[in-house]
Amino acid sequence: MAVNKWAESARPCQAVFLFRYNVIRITTRFIFGPQNSIVFRIAFAMEQEFQLMIENLKTCPCTSGKAYNKCCGPFLERHATPRTVKQLMRSRYTAFALGGHGGYLLDTWHPSQSVGLTAESLSLKATQWLGLKILDFSQQGDAGMVEFEASYSDKEGNKGVHHEKSQFVREGGKWLYLRHEA
Ligand SMILES: [Zn+2]
Repeated sequence: MAVNKWAESARPCQAVFLFRYNVIRITTRFIFGPQNSIVFRIAFAMEQEFQLMIENLKTCPCTSGKAYNKCCGPFLERHATPRTVKQLMRSRYTAFALGGHGGYLLDTWHPSQSVGLTAESLSLKATQWLGLKILDFSQQGDAGMVEFEASYSDKEGNKGVHHEKSQFVREGGKWLYLRHEA
């Protein structure tokens, strides 16, 4: 699994914030009383800021080093559509890694190749995906390819690496996963 330098650099900042937040929170509760003090309101606002920061600190499972809401999140939450095969590949990996996104996997799977698959079965998280490494990619017109390695840990805790060359096709302006090379 690639070391997430971005998250590492954010950690001290998070620690400072936590310290500041806790000092104000404890002071508020034990000295000023819990309600209606301006200090309490400040602490509450800081708590919200902290929650937001935690959300932003959650790094994307695709190991891009970016925050989830700035990487695959908008695709999985349907706020945006992948414009490149790499974006689609990453977002599909993240859907598998998180679990519960079978609908997205089915929607980005070419219908000719997804016969028999259901959103429910694709939402199950049988394998723990540990990281993604894109080795090569190409995109020409409405055809694309991404070669990658995905490391995983199975139910028994055995670790391995899945190597694949995925083929993609663009239909109606939307990239779809077609198949992988044998
Ligand atoms: Zn991502």
